[in-house]
Amino acid sequence: MTKLPQTGTSIFSKMTSLANQYDAINLSQGFPNFPIDKRLVEILSQTATEDIHQYMPSAGYPPLLEKIASLLLQSYQRKITPEKEILITAGATQGIYVTLQALIAFNDEVIILDPSYDSYEPAVLLANGKPIRIPLDENFCPNWNLIAKNCSDKTKMIIINNPHNPSGNILNEADFIALEFLISKFPNLIVLSDEVYEYITFEEKHLSAHTRKSLRNHCITVSSFGKTFHITGWKIGYLVAPEHLMKEIKKVHQFLVFSVNSIAQVAINHYLDEVELPGLGAFYQEKRDYFRKLLHPTPFELLPCKGTYFQVASYHSISNENDVQFCENLVKNQGVAAIPLSPFYKNNTDLKMIRFCFAKDNETLEKAAQKLLSL
Ligand code: PMP
Ligand code: GLN
Repeated sequence: MTKLPQTGTSIFSKMTSLANQYDAINLSQGFPNFPIDKRLVEILSQTATEDIHQYMPSAGYPPLLEKIASLLLQSYQRKITPEKEILITAGATQGIYVTLQALIAFNDEVIILDPSYDSYEPAVLLANGKPIRIPLDENFCPNWNLIAKNCSDKTKMIIINNPHNPSGNILNEADFIALEFLISKFPNLIVLSDEVYEYITFEEKHLSAHTRKSLRNHCITVSSFGKTFHITGWKIGYLVAPEHLMKEIKKVHQFLVFSVNSIAQVAINHYLDEVELPGLGAFYQEKRDYFRKLLHPTPFELLPCKGTYFQVASYHSISNENDVQFCENLVKNQGVAAIPLSPFYKNNTDLKMIRFCFAKDNETLEKAAQKLLSL
């Protein structure tokens, strides 16, 4: 018996390893390739000399919990009780996993909107839940009528991802009104709002679930310092949930990991003392615009990107290959790695679209574009 018979190696690992094998420019897996803030490195080294090398409290380093509460107040005007409503997790991935383990029971239905991040479905299955995968529309927006049609008393949770990986779309006021209406019809529905790219939006402001008062009793939000401070390898993030849900999540968290890396928690706490929230939106908007300009002469059709550090491109005028083959050949022939979109869909739907990560220094983006010009 295998627990995840349909699951293979993640597309992110596969494409990064192919990029390394062919010495290609890696615009596949989402991670920045530029140096992190020097000050954070200094704080990290300084922190390592402090007496903080033993287990942290299971929910997290108390001053960091306080700091996150201030951040929520500053960013979203939301007031929370840090010791009851925040949990530090080993990245957003563990935050998602622990939430599903804690709140999903046998055959509970969980709505997942496709294209969806690769960890959602396996985490639902490992909790013995039933993933109900519903496609986003052609503009990567939720079809709320279709979602409502798929809701019943068996539906325990809906997972939303805003800003959205891979499409870069963001939710708007009308989406939240529709979600709130859905909850008024199904008052036991829980919302898991994956907002790891919350600080990376461009022309339009990020509309966070934190700002919706009527969702607060129903909603768990997921954040990641990996995205916000360019430190994906540190694997540190946090959940915010109302006390009655957080109580259950914390029960599982203590047996899943107990507590998260002490040095990272203390270092981030010190860093948050010093930094204003990074102007991440402006920083990545410049990268997005530059990358789009560089790709303009290529035959790719670029889709809109309102947030995240991902650019989706259609290659329908270049090739008929399926997107996985196209990406493999792009590495081998052009020396550029991207992510096919089909692994984000239930039946690996192939829309002839791929995703580039533009969280790279300009020189890397230029070199990649140069190689893509030969298409
Ligand atoms: N959710 C989404 C939408 C992501 O794109 C990612 C990672 N890039 C994660 C969760 C996981 O974040 P972390 O690396 O903090 O586990
Ligand atoms: N979230 C990152 C992406 O979308 C990858 C993280 C991972 O490799 N698991 O590229």
